[in-house]
Amino acid sequence: MKKLLTVILILTLLSIPYSVKSAKAETNVRVPVLLYHVVSTNPDPNNLYQFSLTEFKKHMDYLNANGYTTLSIDQYYNIINKKAPMPKKPVMLTFDDCTEDFYTNVYPILRKYHMKAAEFAITNLIDTYGHLTTSQLKTVFYNGIDVENHTTNHLDLTTLTHNQKYAAINNATAKIKSITNKAPLYLAYPYGTYDADSVSILKSLGYKAGFSVSNVLSTDTSNKYGLPRIVITNGDTLNVFEKKLLNGH
Ligand SMILES: [Zn+2]
Repeated sequence: MKKLLTVILILTLLSIPYSVKSAKAETNVRVPVLLYHVVSTNPDPNNLYQFSLTEFKKHMDYLNANGYTTLSIDQYYNIINKKAPMPKKPVMLTFDDCTEDFYTNVYPILRKYHMKAAEFAITNLIDTYGHLTTSQLKTVFYNGIDVENHTTNHLDLTTLTHNQKYAAINNATAKIKSITNKAPLYLAYPYGTYDADSVSILKSLGYKAGFSVSNVLSTDTSNKYGLPRIVITNGDTLNVFEKKLLNGH
């Protein structure tokens, strides 16, 4: 009997490392990163990137009612690098171009649900007509919204010289840091386009990641300097939204 117990004990001990290993290998990292632009009470029906506030509310109600966890950008980055556990239903919300509706329409809803999100700002447009002001950006930043880089002027980086690219990224870094006191570590490429030079500039400036546009979910094998975002476009009903959350398209 004692011998049998010893054999069982040895077998159990032997199987522990194996079961831990296989449990880890089964971890399936999949995170949808959603991209919104303008969210308006009166969206232009011919503009794909203007979205109805009424529909936007339905999307956020859906996330809230269905147990989704919205991530900060650092949480997202740690999850896809397997340095943080993934909540059951993770989602990352991103907003581009720092239009003023982010403050007037989007932010109150995010606050209502205690949701996290990131705003990618075009820094030359801050404090210009129809865009977020420095003071609004400070308010959202100090209330948990990440403020990140979308370049100074929103030009397609692949059309610029090295020096122009560097300035578009680096001057925007400085501007955001002057507002939030924190250097941005993530950049969204204008139009989602980038090249090897854009990536090496990001790396040289200490950026952790770059976001592109590609309608798939992020995984632990995603290219960190070409992370996929799922575009939400004008007319995306709740049905389409549910599909995009699950599959990216
Ligand atoms: Zn943009």
